[in-house]
Amino acid sequence: MKIKMILPALTEAKSPYWRPIKYSLFPPLGLATLAAWCSPDDEVCLQDEHVETLDLSDNPDLVIIQVYITNAFRAYKIAAHYRAKGSYVCLGGLHVSSLPDEAKPFADSLFIGPGEDTFPRFLNDYRSGNPKPIYVNNTRNIESIPPIRRDLIKRNLYLVPNSIVVSRGCPHHCDFCYKDAFFEGGKSFYTQRVDAALAEIDRLPGRHLYFLDDHLLGNQKFAAALFAGMEGMDRVFQGASTIDAILRGDLIEKAARAGLRSVFIGFETLSEGNLQQSNKKQNLGKNYQEAIRRLHDLGIMINGSFVFGLDEDRQDVFKRTVDWAVSNGLTTSTFHILTPYPGTRLYKDMEQAGRILHHNWDLYDTRQVVYKTGGLSADELKAGYDWAYKSFYSWKNVAKASVQHDNLHHMIKHFAYAGGWKKFEPLWNFIIKTKGLNQMLPLLESILSKVNNGKGQPIKPFPAIA
Ligand code: SF4
Repeated sequence: MKIKMILPALTEAKSPYWRPIKYSLFPPLGLATLAAWCSPDDEVCLQDEHVETLDLSDNPDLVIIQVYITNAFRAYKIAAHYRAKGSYVCLGGLHVSSLPDEAKPFADSLFIGPGEDTFPRFLNDYRSGNPKPIYVNNTRNIESIPPIRRDLIKRNLYLVPNSIVVSRGCPHHCDFCYKDAFFEGGKSFYTQRVDAALAEIDRLPGRHLYFLDDHLLGNQKFAAALFAGMEGMDRVFQGASTIDAILRGDLIEKAARAGLRSVFIGFETLSEGNLQQSNKKQNLGKNYQEAIRRLHDLGIMINGSFVFGLDEDRQDVFKRTVDWAVSNGLTTSTFHILTPYPGTRLYKDMEQAGRILHHNWDLYDTRQVVYKTGGLSADELKAGYDWAYKSFYSWKNVAKASVQHDNLHHMIKHFAYAGGWKKFEPLWNFIIKTKGLNQMLPLLESILSKVNNGKGQPIKPFPAIA
């Protein structure tokens, strides 16, 4: 059987002239994970429109399309194209799980929720000639899933081909997060077996790994065993955590010993009122500075994530946030305009209050204002958001944030990483066009090398505080 798996892209990501590096970071792991259930006799082709031009001239028996909010309209067009050619088309992913009624007319079958249980059930039914229109996930278990079909991934098209996911979901429930809709009706956080995760790591070449888990430190027992198993594997890795997990116990020291060199943290807002409003309990009353000091003492760079447009935000929020991020030595920052994704509590609240402006999902990219704002006008919010990016990544602020570290090696790493990330977009564009991204990996690995304390010794682990 001929099976085509597609990750469609929004317009900007597939421009022939300019492709921002952010779209060429990670391969489509979700589809490659599902492909593992196909039979060895199946001819499987996986295409990611973010990094390649789709070949739409083929005639596959089965087409599987992954849909997220800003690629939804594109996904529906591709689905219609293949259905007109006689292919059997399945849609799944975050957006389909949030809005199945919207997606239904474009698909022969829909997958709701995580695909590790729906896809194999569908394949059995399809092969026996009895596929159903909707498959809803009812088993949350990834303990014995087959190895990801990494042979289907075109590694040379990605900066971070070694991305990996060892858990699903997150133990928290922030109001603006897509997660609860996707995992509705069952567990919303579960992990692989530690030995299976270590085996997957072992299969990956090179040193660098990027864990795409929502919260790598979310299950302390699992994470501690994973990091213990990774010690001695000579890996450097990046991943995401919450503030409270960094402050709790000595898990972060274990992560550093295993090779953690950079962590993504959702600070979201510096306002307690906004945290309350967003149900971001895990950040409430937490000492951000203490977590930052602890990470910096371990030589771990920080990518902070912030949301603008919560109701307590006023005109001063942009400068206050950027100044705070710079003076605390955050290496990179990701700013977002608050976006009410369908299926979230935030969306329901805004819809009830008549605050949703439109349903043009192309614009739900966290860079546009799609709701009636509270303490700021829409123009102020958009202008402030644009200003925040420009200001945080100005050479002046990159240099100022770099010198917040008390270690020369960390300062240099910070400067190289932040500068390389945002200041050389034309160079990245050239490398993407010449398909040389994968060759940048050794450079990334060297920037993520261990920080020494200036005397040739690795930095001492920070003592546990709980
Ligand atoms: S901590 Fe992050 S992943 Fe978890 S619910 Fe909140 S926003 Fe979502």
